[in-house]
Amino acid sequence: MIPVTMISEYEFCSRKLFLEKVLKLVVPPKDVMVKGSVRHEVYDLINKKEKNLIVSITKRLSYTQILELYKNVYADIVRNTISNNKKALIEVNISLIDFFKQMWPLIIRECKSRAENLLSFIAKNEIYGRELWDKLTPKIESEFKIESEELKLTGVIDKVEIYPDSVIPFEIKTGKAPDIGVWSGHKLQLAAYVMMLEEAEKNVDTCFVTYLDINESREIAINPFLREKVLKIRDEVIKILEEKELPDFCDNKNKCNACSLKEQCYNQTFMKKKILEFNQK
Ligand code: SF4
Repeated sequence: MIPVTMISEYEFCSRKLFLEKVLKLVVPPKDVMVKGSVRHEVYDLINKKEKNLIVSITKRLSYTQILELYKNVYADIVRNTISNNKKALIEVNISLIDFFKQMWPLIIRECKSRAENLLSFIAKNEIYGRELWDKLTPKIESEFKIESEELKLTGVIDKVEIYPDSVIPFEIKTGKAPDIGVWSGHKLQLAAYVMMLEEAEKNVDTCFVTYLDINESREIAINPFLREKVLKIRDEVIKILEEKELPDFCDNKNKCNACSLKEQCYNQTFMKKKILEFNQK
């Protein structure tokens, strides 16, 4: 089984995939990676706490009261998650206070969107507590595990909105977003998830990449060309892992400049030594 993340990693640079997955070079953590992982943890906890929060609503509340409820729960989640990851954040020179300030506006938007959805659902259905939770749509699941023997792929989808007859997958990304659309690796990753969900007989309405830094969810159309490309890259990844031949440098210097393995990758002596050690194993 090939993890779907390897498809986007291959799309970025096949040589980097080889260095990480075959030669097992360790990628030094970068601030964007640490921020991304803390944000993922926050959004995962937000989704997991949703049930308790909704079950606790036993009577009609105003929009402001619902919003306050969300804000209190989410503020605790953000504070605790930052505190639990304090060491990793400080190691890459991220100020805990600045990071909280960066995250908070995104969290407030999340609170508002959930409070609005909940308020309109209650207004239509007049139900509360456990019944409200049971009937509320969409339900949001994070870290949604999926695999397909048929496609030889496995993965964890960041967020899935679950409706009675369909699902909508989201990939949540930290870091620079392109001016328009989504980065090609992100597109391939979502296409692979859509193919796997369909394989599991789920009806996929559409799919999105959410770029947290600009707070935008961008929709992707999954066409046959993209589906073919996912399968082609999956086969190329399998080949790299099996044949273990060092791929050439990528042809985009901007990628190399942003790459956390650049120093090792361009150091011929180091690379020769690593390949030799690897072949002797
Ligand atoms: S430095 Fe460039 S060629 Fe080397 S692994 Fe990174 S992106 Fe690929």
